[in-house]
Amino acid sequence: MITFYSHIANMRCPTCDQLQSVFQVFRTNEARPSIWGPLPFLECNMCARKLRIANYNKTLHFLLVVPVFLGSAAFGMFVFSYLGLFERAGSEGPNFVGFVLVFALFVVPAVLLCARLLKVEVLS
Ligand SMILES: [Zn+2]
Repeated sequence: MITFYSHIANMRCPTCDQLQSVFQVFRTNEARPSIWGPLPFLECNMCARKLRIANYNKTLHFLLVVPVFLGSAAFGMFVFSYLGLFERAGSEGPNFVGFVLVFALFVVPAVLLCARLLKVEVLS
């Protein structure tokens, strides 16, 4: 399924340039198991070629994603507390809805921007 998040990650079929579902493409990453279970490949819904993530480097990705994750979470919490939205009663921190929104609006998009560095390859 193509979502707003797929557009952020912008993972495309190298053959026909069709935008792919980022969550499905992530399942083809052998180095990192997905909570939805692994997939050996993803079939492009345009040209039916078999696709998967090619150049995943665990260490490099960790070094990039952890600061991006923490930075975007801190930034999102700052924005929400600055605007006074979804605050927990009697504290500066966000409530549960605020926490979920920070995750959905700041953390996930920021981490998916990092996915633009990954390449999709065609299995022969
Ligand atoms: Zn294709």
